[in-house]
Amino acid sequence: MQKHFSHRHGLVPRDVKAEDEILCSGCELSLSGSAFACSHSDNQCNFYLHESCFHLPRKIQHESHPEHPLKLLPFAPYDVSAFSCSVCPRNGNAFVYHCSACEFDLHVECAFPKETVNGQRHESYADQLRAHSEMQDALAACQLESEIARRGRQAILDSLDPPNVVRRYYYY
Ligand SMILES: [Zn+2]
Ligand SMILES: [Zn+2]
Ligand SMILES: [Zn+2]
Ligand SMILES: [Zn+2]
Repeated sequence: MQKHFSHRHGLVPRDVKAEDEILCSGCELSLSGSAFACSHSDNQCNFYLHESCFHLPRKIQHESHPEHPLKLLPFAPYDVSAFSCSVCPRNGNAFVYHCSACEFDLHVECAFPKETVNGQRHESYADQLRAHSEMQDALAACQLESEIARRGRQAILDSLDPPNVVRRYYYY
């Protein structure tokens, strides 16, 4: 049994099945595989943590807020325990990396992108952004291709223009 600062009862390692549809009480994302669960006998807490969320550092220095260190809190220290994340458009109701001087709040998953926190996450916001920009690149490439097909050599020359020239086929 292990103690974690975010929960009043001891936690025990547990293997969670995906069918159980359990959400992590730290990052609020779905949880399966190695986890820590509240060991309280009746399990009324329904408290679970990803193994990685269990091991999150209590204090970090993060590029999104270089001025101050951010402290990991089990809930945001506001009257309503919800917070709005400073780097993504979603609210949070659980773990938060917080700067009290600036009321700066960060989701766990926004502090640590998917790869480093948990390999089995649902798509994170960062992934969606990346997918979106890949889509835009693909779209731009398509537009360039069709432009070349239509106008031939001139389009290729245009595409080699220095960056201060507006390439109208990139932005409609
Ligand atoms: Zn408990
Ligand atoms: Zn988690
Ligand atoms: Zn966020
Ligand atoms: Zn700050």
